Amino acid sequence: MNSQAPRMIQELPNRTKIVATVGPACSDLETLTKLIESGVSVFRLNFSHGDLETQAKRVSLIREAATLVDRPIALMGDLQGPKIRVGQVPSPGLEVRKGTNVIFHRESLDAHADGDVCHLSCTYQGLVDDVLPGQRLLVNDGAVRMLILEKRSDEIECSVTTGGLITTGKGINLPESDLNVEVLGTRDWSHVDWAIEQELDGLAMSFVRRAEDIIELDEGIKSRLASRGGKMSRLPIVAKIELPKAVENIVSILKVADAIMVARGDLGVELDLARVPIVQKQLLQTAHDYGRPVIVATQMLETMIHAPIPTRAEATDVACAIVDETDATMLSGETAVGEYPVLAVETMRRITQHTEEYLEQHPAPETPPLYLPESDFWTAALAHGVWTIATDIQAKFIIVWTRKGHGARFLSQNTFHVPIIAATPEAHVARQLQFFRGVIPIHCAEEPDSLGDLARWIDDWLIEKGWAQEGDSSVLVTGGSIGRDTTPNRLAIHAIGQSH
Ligand code: PEP
Repeated sequence: MNSQAPRMIQELPNRTKIVATVGPACSDLETLTKLIESGVSVFRLNFSHGDLETQAKRVSLIREAATLVDRPIALMGDLQGPKIRVGQVPSPGLEVRKGTNVIFHRESLDAHADGDVCHLSCTYQGLVDDVLPGQRLLVNDGAVRMLILEKRSDEIECSVTTGGLITTGKGINLPESDLNVEVLGTRDWSHVDWAIEQELDGLAMSFVRRAEDIIELDEGIKSRLASRGGKMSRLPIVAKIELPKAVENIVSILKVADAIMVARGDLGVELDLARVPIVQKQLLQTAHDYGRPVIVATQMLETMIHAPIPTRAEATDVACAIVDETDATMLSGETAVGEYPVLAVETMRRITQHTEEYLEQHPAPETPPLYLPESDFWTAALAHGVWTIATDIQAKFIIVWTRKGHGARFLSQNTFHVPIIAATPEAHVARQLQFFRGVIPIHCAEEPDSLGDLARWIDDWLIEKGWAQEGDSSVLVTGGSIGRDTTPNRLAIHAIGQSH
C-alpha cells in the first residue's frame, strides 16, 4: 500500500468500473499505463481544464497505453456546460479572508488584490445581471463562501463568509439565483466537434436540467456524425445529475440519456449536503429500474490527493456505492492533480475487490430493470434465460457475441455476479462497453465464422489469461448473426475448452 510500484493485474478485472480523470498528474505514458494496469476502464477528459492541444496529446498517450496493456479503454469527454468558473488568477492563487470583500467584474481581468479587496472575473458575463443582493455565491465546490452585498452596472460586491484559496477555473455555484445561461454554449459545441474528430467514446453533459437538454445534444451530435459519414451514428451521453431540477426530472432524463453520473461536487453545493447520500441511493435505484448505468463521482478518495491512504469514511463510501450497484466509481482530483494517482486507483480497486467478494458470497436475487420499452422485451427474456441457466449450472462466465453492444448492456443491467465476456467486431463498441458493470469487452478484429469458432477463440483467451480452466461451465449467447450463421438469439451451455 505504501509504494507507487506498478502491479500487473493477473486477476479477473473487478465488475465495478473505475473512471479516472486525466490531468497533469497522470499525463505521461508510464503513469497512464500503470493506471490501466491498476484497473482504470474509462478516462475522463474534463473540458473545463486544459486546452485542446493538451487534451489531444492525452488522447494519443491513452491510446498508446491501452495498446501496450492490450485492453479496450474508453475516453469520455466532459462538457463544461453552463458551469460558471473563476477567470484568470495568477499562480499560486488568491487567498480571500473571512470578513473581507470581493468584487466580481463583468469584463475579464487578471485577479488581483487591492488592499483588503480582491478583484475577480468569471466565465459568465451575465452573472452581474442575474444575481441579487442577499444571495450566496460559492466557489470551489462551496469551500469558499460569499454573500452578495451589492449589485452595480458592471460588478457585484460580495462579503466573504468562509475564506480560502481561489485559483483559475474553480467552479462558482449560485444556489438561489435564477441564471439565464445556455445549457450548451459555443465553447461546448466546439468541444463536441473536437470529441467527434478525436473519436471519443462518450460525452458527459454538465448541469442538465431536463430531458430536452440531452435531446438537444444528441441531435447536434447525430447531425455532425451524419455529415461526416462513417460507422457511428451517435455518441453515448452521460447526464451529470448535479442540480435539484435534474433530480426532479430524473425519470424523463433516464429515458433519453445513455447513463447518468451522480456528480456530488456540484450536487452537494446546489442541494443541502445532508440530502446527498439518500439522493444518491434514489438515483441509483431509479437508474437501475430504467436499465441505465450510473457513475458515482467526486471526493471518493479525496484525501489521497495529498496522502497515500484514504480515510475510513472514504473507503466506506466507495464500498457503499458498490453495494448499491453502481456501474462505476470515479476519481477526479485524485488522478488529475493528486500526488498518488496510481495508488488511488489501486486503493479503489482493492476496496472494490473486497466488496465484490462479499457480494458474491451473499448474492442478491435477480433484479432486472422494471420499465422497458416494448422493443427490449425479447432481449429481456433472453437475459432472464441466461440468468436462470447461469445460476443453475453455477456458470463461471457468460460469453456474449454483440455487434452494437445492446445484448451485453442488457445483461449487465441484470446485475449478474458472473463476469460477462462481450466479444464484438467493432472496436468502438468494445470501448463503450467499458462503462458497464460486469462486462469484460474484447474486440474481435476478425469476425469468427460460427458460434463454435467464437467459443474456441474465447476459451483460448480465457485459459491463456489464467481466468478459466478446461471444463469450467459458461453460458454462450448471441443477440445477432455471427459469421456465416444468420440465426439470431442463440443460447447454449458450454464447457470451456471443449468443442461446441
Ligand atoms: C461534480 O460536480 O461532481 C463533477 C463531477 O463535475 P466537475 O468535475 O465538472 O465539477
